Amino acid sequence: MNVHLGASLGKGVIVLKCRDMAELATDYMEGALPLRLRLAARWHLHLCQMCRNYLDQLNKSVRLVRGQSMGGADAEVEARLAGSAEGQPGE
Ligand SMILES: [Zn+2]
Repeated sequence: MNVHLGASLGKGVIVLKCRDMAELATDYMEGALPLRLRLAARWHLHLCQMCRNYLDQLNKSVRLVRGQSMGGADAEVEARLAGSAEGQPGE
């Protein structure tokens, strides 16, 4: 994946924008990002409700598509989602 964050890479702190998060979201969920980008993504998510919602939606749709565990960065979130899904009464 082409990550063109050029100027921010190589400096001390990576500051991601929402647009960057949209690009990185899939890799982030799969744990495919370099550590510094992952930390930057986490920090952005910590600050940004909008991107948390976005990731949440994306995570759900990815789960629907793949129908299996990704074993990635958010195994804990997956487990929680799976748990809550099982906890709901069927329609
Ligand atoms: Zn954001």
